[in-house]
Amino acid sequence: MGELMNCPKCNALFVKTNLRDVCDKCYKEEEKAYETVYSFIRKRENRKATLVEVVEGTGISQDLIIKFIRTGRLQLAQFPNLGYPCQKCGNLIREGKLCNDCTSDIHNQLANVQKEQEREREIKERMKGTYLADKKNR
Ligand SMILES: [Zn+2]
Ligand SMILES: [Zn+2]
Repeated sequence: MGELMNCPKCNALFVKTNLRDVCDKCYKEEEKAYETVYSFIRKRENRKATLVEVVEGTGISQDLIIKFIRTGRLQLAQFPNLGYPCQKCGNLIREGKLCNDCTSDIHNQLANVQKEQEREREIKERMKGTYLADKKNR
């Protein structure tokens, strides 16, 4: 059983399922759009098209094409120049949610936070140490 919700595109009520996150009408439109995109990009001369070129060539919105890529309907392995924007900086990427730069950025930030926490712990330990030493000396 799916849940009843409003279509995010046209606001019509429909039953949401795992396969569909838009209403029947919009789903059909998306199917048609997919056909258009796919038949465009399948052509030998368009295999190396970029996202912008596909948008221009098909008239389909970039968001929708990105959705096809994200949901795995358009297999990037077959199309070397296609990609979708990094969620952070908008660079074109081909897998995951972030580009390499942003991923290593996040790793660096995490490493910094960890270092910071370790230092704080060390300071606390040291303070505890001096406190105990003080007590012993008395
Ligand atoms: Zn709809
Ligand atoms: Zn990025």
